[in-house]
Amino acid sequence: MALGPPPEEGTVTVVVRVRPSMPNERERAAHPVLRVLDQHILVFDPEEATGPSGSVPPFRGHKHQGKDLKFVFDRVFEEKATQEEVFQHTTREVLDSVLNGYNCSVFAYGATGAGKTYTMLGSEENPGIMYLTMVELYKRIEARKEEKSCEVLVSYQEVYNEQIHDLLEPKGPLAIREDPEKGVVVQGLSFHQPASAEQLLQMLANGNKNRTQHPTDANNTSSRSHAIFQIYVKQQDRVGGLARDLQVAKMSLVDLAGSERASVTNAKGERLREGANINRSLLALINVINALADAKSKKTHIPYRDSKLTRLLKDSIGGNCRTIMIAAVSPCALAYEDTYNTLKYANRAKEI
Ligand code: ADP
Ligand code: MG
Repeated sequence: MALGPPPEEGTVTVVVRVRPSMPNERERAAHPVLRVLDQHILVFDPEEATGPSGSVPPFRGHKHQGKDLKFVFDRVFEEKATQEEVFQHTTREVLDSVLNGYNCSVFAYGATGAGKTYTMLGSEENPGIMYLTMVELYKRIEARKEEKSCEVLVSYQEVYNEQIHDLLEPKGPLAIREDPEKGVVVQGLSFHQPASAEQLLQMLANGNKNRTQHPTDANNTSSRSHAIFQIYVKQQDRVGGLARDLQVAKMSLVDLAGSERASVTNAKGERLREGANINRSLLALINVINALADAKSKKTHIPYRDSKLTRLLKDSIGGNCRTIMIAAVSPCALAYEDTYNTLKYANRAKEI
Protein backbone atom coordinates (compact mmCIF):
# COMPACT_ATOMS: atom_id res chain seq x y z
CA MET A 1 0.00 0.00 0.00
CA ALA A 2 1.15 3.55 -0.62
CA LEU A 3 3.04 5.11 2.23
CA GLY A 4 2.18 8.63 3.27
CA PRO A 5 4.80 11.32 2.93
CA PRO A 6 7.93 10.51 4.93
CA PRO A 7 8.67 12.72 7.91
CA GLU A 8 11.46 15.19 7.47
CA GLU A 9 14.77 13.31 7.49
CA GLY A 10 15.91 12.41 11.00
CA THR A 11 13.59 14.76 12.80
CA VAL A 12 14.19 15.02 16.53
CA THR A 13 11.81 16.96 18.71
CA VAL A 14 13.15 17.94 22.11
CA VAL A 15 10.89 18.93 24.95
CA VAL A 16 11.54 19.49 28.65
CA ARG A 17 9.22 18.53 31.48
CA VAL A 18 9.73 20.05 34.92
CA ARG A 19 8.30 17.88 37.66
CA PRO A 20 6.67 19.45 40.71
CA SER A 21 8.82 19.77 43.80
CA MET A 22 7.92 17.51 46.70
CA PRO A 23 6.85 19.05 50.04
CA ASN A 24 10.13 18.07 51.71
CA GLU A 25 12.14 19.65 48.90
CA ARG A 26 10.36 22.98 49.13
CA GLU A 27 11.60 23.70 52.62
CA ARG A 28 15.21 23.07 51.75
CA ALA A 29 15.30 25.05 48.54
CA ALA A 30 14.09 28.59 48.88
CA HIS A 31 15.60 29.70 45.62
CA PRO A 32 14.12 28.10 42.49
CA VAL A 33 16.51 26.35 40.12
CA LEU A 34 14.19 26.72 37.16
CA ARG A 35 11.78 29.29 35.93
CA VAL A 36 9.48 28.46 33.04
CA LEU A 37 8.87 31.62 31.04
CA ASP A 38 6.49 30.25 28.44
CA GLN A 39 5.79 27.13 26.37
CA HIS A 40 9.22 27.28 24.76
CA ILE A 41 11.60 29.03 27.12
CA LEU A 42 12.95 28.26 30.54
CA VAL A 43 15.65 29.86 32.63
CA PHE A 44 18.11 27.76 34.58
CA ASP A 45 19.25 29.22 37.89
CA PRO A 46 17.49 32.55 37.40
CA GLU A 47 18.97 35.63 38.86
CA GLU A 48 16.74 36.77 41.62
CA ALA A 49 14.45 39.53 40.55
CA THR A 50 14.57 42.61 42.68
CA GLY A 51 11.29 44.09 43.88
CA PRO A 52 9.08 46.34 41.74
CA SER A 53 10.84 49.46 42.91
CA GLY A 54 14.23 47.86 42.36
CA SER A 55 14.52 47.02 46.02
CA VAL A 56 15.76 43.68 47.27
CA PRO A 57 13.10 41.63 49.07
CA PRO A 58 13.72 42.24 52.77
CA PHE A 59 13.67 38.54 53.76
CA ARG A 60 16.64 37.58 51.56
CA GLY A 61 19.04 40.41 52.15
CA HIS A 62 20.96 40.09 48.87
CA LYS A 63 20.29 39.47 45.21
CA HIS A 64 20.96 35.91 44.06
CA GLN A 65 23.62 35.83 41.33
CA GLY A 66 22.45 32.85 39.32
CA LYS A 67 23.83 31.53 36.05
CA ASP A 68 20.62 32.89 34.55
CA LEU A 69 20.80 30.70 31.43
CA LYS A 70 17.97 30.83 28.96
CA PHE A 71 17.10 27.65 27.02
CA VAL A 72 14.70 27.33 24.11
CA PHE A 73 13.02 23.99 23.30
CA ASP A 74 10.28 22.72 21.03
CA ARG A 75 8.10 22.73 24.12
CA VAL A 76 8.52 23.26 27.83
CA PHE A 77 6.07 21.69 30.27
CA GLU A 78 5.88 23.39 33.64
CA GLU A 79 5.21 21.66 36.93
CA LYS A 80 1.44 21.68 36.62
CA ALA A 81 1.35 20.12 33.15
CA THR A 82 -0.83 17.00 33.08
CA GLN A 83 0.02 13.63 31.56
CA GLU A 84 -2.59 14.32 28.89
CA GLU A 85 -0.96 17.65 27.95
CA VAL A 86 2.48 16.10 27.65
CA PHE A 87 1.05 13.33 25.50
CA GLN A 88 -0.96 15.71 23.32
CA HIS A 89 2.05 17.85 22.46
CA THR A 90 4.62 15.13 21.98
CA THR A 91 3.70 11.56 21.13
CA ARG A 92 0.23 12.12 19.72
CA GLU A 93 1.77 13.96 16.77
CA VAL A 94 3.95 11.04 15.72
CA LEU A 95 1.10 8.54 15.70
CA ASP A 96 0.22 9.72 12.19
CA SER A 97 3.73 8.83 11.13
CA VAL A 98 3.37 5.35 12.61
CA LEU A 99 0.05 4.82 10.87
CA ASN A 100 1.74 5.91 7.65
CA GLY A 101 4.23 3.09 8.10
CA TYR A 102 7.26 4.78 9.67
CA ASN A 103 9.02 3.67 12.84
CA CYS A 104 9.19 6.23 15.64
CA SER A 105 10.71 6.49 19.06
CA VAL A 106 10.06 8.48 22.20
CA PHE A 107 12.67 8.69 24.96
CA ALA A 108 12.44 9.89 28.52
CA TYR A 109 15.90 11.17 29.43
CA GLY A 110 17.09 12.55 32.75
CA ALA A 111 18.57 11.84 36.15
CA THR A 112 17.02 9.41 38.62
CA GLY A 113 14.11 11.07 40.35
CA ALA A 114 13.50 13.60 37.58
CA GLY A 115 10.20 12.08 36.44
CA LYS A 116 11.02 9.71 33.55
CA THR A 117 8.96 6.76 34.75
CA TYR A 118 6.12 9.03 35.80
CA THR A 119 6.04 10.48 32.29
CA MET A 120 6.26 7.19 30.40
CA LEU A 121 4.45 4.75 32.68
CA GLY A 122 2.72 6.98 35.24
CA SER A 123 0.49 5.71 37.99
CA GLU A 124 -2.88 4.02 38.00
CA GLU A 125 -4.62 7.35 38.60
CA ASN A 126 -2.41 9.23 36.13
CA PRO A 127 -1.29 6.82 33.45
CA GLY A 128 1.53 8.06 31.24
CA ILE A 129 2.50 8.12 27.60
CA MET A 130 2.65 4.35 27.10
CA TYR A 131 -0.98 3.98 28.05
CA LEU A 132 -2.27 7.17 26.42
CA THR A 133 -0.58 6.20 23.16
CA MET A 134 -2.35 2.85 23.08
CA VAL A 135 -5.74 4.41 23.82
CA GLU A 136 -5.27 6.95 21.03
CA LEU A 137 -4.01 4.29 18.65
CA TYR A 138 -7.06 2.09 19.19
CA LYS A 139 -9.26 5.12 18.61
CA ARG A 140 -7.63 5.89 15.28
CA ILE A 141 -7.73 2.30 14.13
CA GLU A 142 -11.41 2.12 14.97
CA ALA A 143 -12.07 5.29 12.97
CA ARG A 144 -10.60 3.83 9.81
CA LYS A 145 -11.48 0.20 10.12
CA GLU A 146 -13.58 0.34 6.94
CA GLU A 147 -10.48 1.03 4.83
CA LYS A 148 -7.80 -0.85 6.71
CA SER A 149 -7.52 -3.94 8.81
CA CYS A 150 -5.15 -3.48 11.67
CA GLU A 151 -3.42 -5.63 14.23
CA VAL A 152 -1.58 -4.25 17.25
CA LEU A 153 0.98 -6.17 19.27
CA VAL A 154 3.09 -4.97 22.19
CA SER A 155 6.30 -6.04 23.86
CA TYR A 156 8.08 -4.74 26.93
CA GLN A 157 11.76 -5.39 27.53
CA GLU A 158 14.66 -4.02 29.50
CA VAL A 159 18.32 -3.49 28.77
CA TYR A 160 20.20 -3.96 31.99
CA ASN A 161 23.93 -4.52 32.30
CA GLU A 162 24.07 -4.93 28.50
CA GLN A 163 21.60 -7.79 28.59
CA ILE A 164 18.09 -7.86 27.20
CA HIS A 165 15.27 -9.24 29.33
CA ASP A 166 11.62 -9.75 28.57
CA LEU A 167 9.63 -7.85 31.19
CA LEU A 168 6.32 -9.51 30.37
CA GLU A 169 7.54 -13.12 30.36
CA PRO A 170 10.80 -13.10 32.32
CA LYS A 171 13.36 -15.66 31.20
CA GLY A 172 17.07 -15.74 30.39
CA PRO A 173 18.79 -12.94 28.49
CA LEU A 174 17.69 -12.59 24.85
CA ALA A 175 19.80 -12.14 21.71
CA ILE A 176 19.37 -9.53 18.97
CA ARG A 177 19.32 -10.51 15.33
CA GLU A 178 18.99 -8.35 12.26
CA ASP A 179 16.50 -9.73 9.81
CA PRO A 180 16.62 -8.40 6.23
CA GLU A 181 12.82 -8.23 6.13
CA LYS A 182 11.70 -7.76 9.71
CA GLY A 183 14.47 -5.42 10.78
CA VAL A 184 15.77 -5.79 14.32
CA VAL A 185 14.49 -8.97 15.99
CA VAL A 186 14.94 -9.93 19.64
CA GLN A 187 14.87 -13.71 19.70
CA GLY A 188 12.30 -15.20 22.06
CA LEU A 189 10.69 -11.89 22.99
CA SER A 190 7.00 -12.28 23.83
CA PHE A 191 4.29 -10.31 22.03
CA HIS A 192 0.94 -9.50 23.50
CA GLN A 193 -2.44 -8.21 22.49
CA PRO A 194 -4.01 -6.53 25.50
CA ALA A 195 -7.78 -7.07 25.40
CA SER A 196 -8.59 -3.77 27.10
CA ALA A 197 -7.03 -0.57 28.35
CA GLU A 198 -7.22 -1.89 31.91
CA GLN A 199 -5.41 -5.05 30.95
CA LEU A 200 -2.69 -3.00 29.29
CA LEU A 201 -2.22 -0.92 32.45
CA GLN A 202 -1.93 -4.07 34.51
CA MET A 203 0.53 -5.52 32.04
CA LEU A 204 2.75 -2.43 32.13
CA ALA A 205 2.66 -2.22 35.92
CA ASN A 206 3.61 -5.90 36.25
CA GLY A 207 6.33 -5.48 33.65
CA ASN A 208 7.75 -2.56 35.53
CA LYS A 209 7.91 -4.64 38.71
CA ASN A 210 10.12 -7.04 36.79
CA ARG A 211 12.71 -4.35 36.10
CA THR A 212 16.00 -5.15 37.73
CA GLN A 213 16.49 -3.42 41.05
CA HIS A 214 19.30 -3.07 43.47
CA PRO A 215 18.00 -3.16 47.02
CA THR A 216 21.29 -1.81 48.37
CA ASP A 217 21.14 1.31 46.26
CA ALA A 218 20.02 4.70 47.44
CA ASN A 219 17.90 4.81 44.32
CA ASN A 220 16.72 1.26 44.09
CA THR A 221 13.89 1.74 41.65
CA SER A 222 15.40 0.54 38.41
CA SER A 223 17.62 3.58 37.93
CA ARG A 224 20.10 1.51 35.93
CA SER A 225 17.79 -0.20 33.51
CA HIS A 226 16.35 1.01 30.24
CA ALA A 227 12.73 -0.08 29.76
CA ILE A 228 11.52 -0.34 26.17
CA PHE A 229 7.84 -0.62 25.38
CA GLN A 230 7.24 -1.36 21.70
CA ILE A 231 4.01 -1.18 19.76
CA TYR A 232 3.81 -3.00 16.43
CA VAL A 233 1.12 -1.87 14.05
CA LYS A 234 0.32 -4.20 11.16
CA GLN A 235 -2.00 -2.81 8.54
CA GLN A 236 -3.55 -3.99 5.32
CA ASP A 237 -5.76 -2.12 2.89
CA ARG A 238 -9.21 -3.55 2.51
CA VAL A 239 -9.90 -3.47 -1.19
CA GLY A 240 -13.13 -5.07 -2.34
CA GLY A 241 -13.18 -7.20 0.79
CA LEU A 242 -9.65 -8.46 0.22
CA ALA A 243 -6.84 -7.69 2.60
CA ARG A 244 -3.49 -7.09 0.92
CA ASP A 245 -0.11 -5.36 1.08
CA LEU A 246 0.93 -5.86 4.65
CA GLN A 247 2.61 -2.84 6.21
CA VAL A 248 4.30 -2.94 9.59
CA ALA A 249 5.51 -0.02 11.69
CA LYS A 250 6.94 0.05 15.15
CA MET A 251 6.79 2.64 17.88
CA SER A 252 9.33 2.48 20.72
CA LEU A 253 8.60 4.22 24.00
CA VAL A 254 11.70 4.19 26.18
CA ASP A 255 12.17 4.94 29.86
CA LEU A 256 15.95 5.39 29.96
CA ALA A 257 18.27 4.63 32.85
CA GLY A 258 19.23 7.59 35.04
CA SER A 259 21.65 9.93 33.30
CA GLU A 260 23.52 10.86 36.49
CA ARG A 261 27.07 9.64 36.75
CA ALA A 262 27.09 5.97 37.68
CA SER A 263 30.23 6.50 39.77
CA VAL A 264 28.38 8.60 42.34
CA THR A 265 27.15 5.49 44.18
CA ASN A 266 29.17 2.52 45.37
CA ALA A 267 31.04 1.65 42.21
CA LYS A 268 33.29 -1.31 42.83
CA GLY A 269 33.80 -4.69 41.17
CA GLU A 270 30.51 -5.99 39.82
CA ARG A 271 28.84 -2.69 40.40
CA LEU A 272 31.52 -0.82 38.53
CA ARG A 273 31.11 -3.03 35.50
CA GLU A 274 27.41 -2.58 35.76
CA GLY A 275 27.81 1.14 36.01
CA ALA A 276 30.13 1.15 33.02
CA ASN A 277 27.63 -0.89 31.04
CA ILE A 278 24.75 1.34 31.94
CA ASN A 279 26.79 4.16 30.64
CA ARG A 280 27.61 2.19 27.58
CA SER A 281 24.01 1.99 26.39
CA LEU A 282 23.21 5.52 27.44
CA LEU A 283 26.42 6.96 26.05
CA ALA A 284 25.95 5.00 22.84
CA LEU A 285 22.48 6.47 22.46
CA ILE A 286 23.84 9.94 23.06
CA ASN A 287 26.57 9.29 20.48
CA VAL A 288 24.07 8.01 17.93
CA ILE A 289 21.92 11.07 18.37
CA ASN A 290 24.94 13.35 18.16
CA ALA A 291 26.19 11.53 15.06
CA LEU A 292 22.79 12.02 13.45
CA ALA A 293 23.18 15.72 14.13
CA ASP A 294 26.62 15.63 12.51
CA ALA A 295 25.24 13.57 9.61
CA LYS A 296 23.55 16.75 8.50
CA SER A 297 27.04 18.11 8.06
CA LYS A 298 28.03 14.91 6.16
CA LYS A 299 29.60 12.78 8.86
CA THR A 300 28.11 9.45 7.93
CA HIS A 301 29.09 6.77 10.44
CA ILE A 302 26.30 6.27 12.98
CA PRO A 303 27.64 4.06 15.81
CA TYR A 304 24.57 1.87 16.34
CA ARG A 305 26.65 -1.21 17.07
CA ASP A 306 28.22 0.16 20.24
CA SER A 307 25.55 -1.04 22.67
CA LYS A 308 22.50 -3.27 23.09
CA LEU A 309 20.17 -0.32 23.34
CA THR A 310 21.31 1.28 20.09
CA ARG A 311 21.34 -2.04 18.25
CA LEU A 312 17.82 -2.66 19.47
CA LEU A 313 16.66 0.74 18.26
CA LYS A 314 18.68 0.85 15.07
CA ASP A 315 15.61 0.76 12.85
CA SER A 316 13.78 3.31 14.97
CA ILE A 317 16.13 6.30 15.21
CA GLY A 318 17.44 8.35 12.30
CA GLY A 319 16.50 7.90 8.65
CA ASN A 320 12.77 8.31 8.21
CA CYS A 321 12.03 7.88 11.90
CA ARG A 322 10.58 10.62 14.00
CA THR A 323 12.26 10.83 17.41
CA ILE A 324 11.01 12.64 20.46
CA MET A 325 13.25 13.32 23.40
CA ILE A 326 11.50 14.23 26.62
CA ALA A 327 14.06 15.60 29.04
CA ALA A 328 12.79 15.28 32.60
CA VAL A 329 14.17 17.69 35.18
CA SER A 330 13.70 18.37 38.86
CA PRO A 331 13.32 21.97 40.07
CA CYS A 332 14.94 21.00 43.38
CA ALA A 333 18.21 22.63 44.43
CA LEU A 334 19.67 19.24 45.38
CA ALA A 335 19.40 18.24 41.73
CA TYR A 336 21.13 21.41 40.50
CA GLU A 337 23.97 19.65 38.62
CA ASP A 338 21.71 16.94 37.18
CA THR A 339 19.22 19.48 35.93
CA TYR A 340 21.98 21.57 34.40
CA ASN A 341 23.53 18.55 32.65
CA THR A 342 20.18 17.36 31.33
CA LEU A 343 19.34 20.79 29.90
CA LYS A 344 22.77 21.05 28.29
CA TYR A 345 22.38 17.64 26.69
CA ALA A 346 18.81 18.28 25.56
CA ASN A 347 19.95 21.55 24.06
CA ARG A 348 22.56 19.67 22.01
CA ALA A 349 20.03 17.07 20.84
CA LYS A 350 17.84 19.89 19.60
CA GLU A 351 20.36 20.73 16.88
CA ILE A 352 19.40 17.62 14.91
P1 ADP B 1 12.65 8.71 37.45
O1 ADP B 1 11.92 7.61 36.75
O2 ADP B 1 13.19 9.73 36.50
O3 ADP B 1 13.70 8.21 38.38
P2 ADP B 1 10.11 9.11 38.74
O4 ADP B 1 9.24 9.16 37.55
O5 ADP B 1 10.12 7.85 39.51
O6 ADP B 1 11.60 9.51 38.36
O7 ADP B 1 9.73 10.37 39.65
C1 ADP B 1 10.26 10.56 40.97
C2 ADP B 1 9.11 10.89 41.90
O8 ADP B 1 8.45 12.09 41.51
C3 ADP B 1 8.03 9.83 41.92
O9 ADP B 1 7.52 9.73 43.23
C4 ADP B 1 6.97 10.37 40.98
O10 ADP B 1 5.69 9.88 41.29
C5 ADP B 1 7.08 11.85 41.21
N1 ADP B 1 6.76 12.63 40.00
C6 ADP B 1 7.55 12.74 38.91
N2 ADP B 1 6.99 13.54 37.99
C7 ADP B 1 5.82 13.94 38.50
C8 ADP B 1 4.76 14.78 38.02
N3 ADP B 1 4.82 15.38 36.82
N4 ADP B 1 3.69 14.98 38.83
C9 ADP B 1 3.63 14.41 40.04
N5 ADP B 1 4.58 13.60 40.55
C10 ADP B 1 5.66 13.35 39.80
MG1 MG C 1 12.35 5.55 36.84
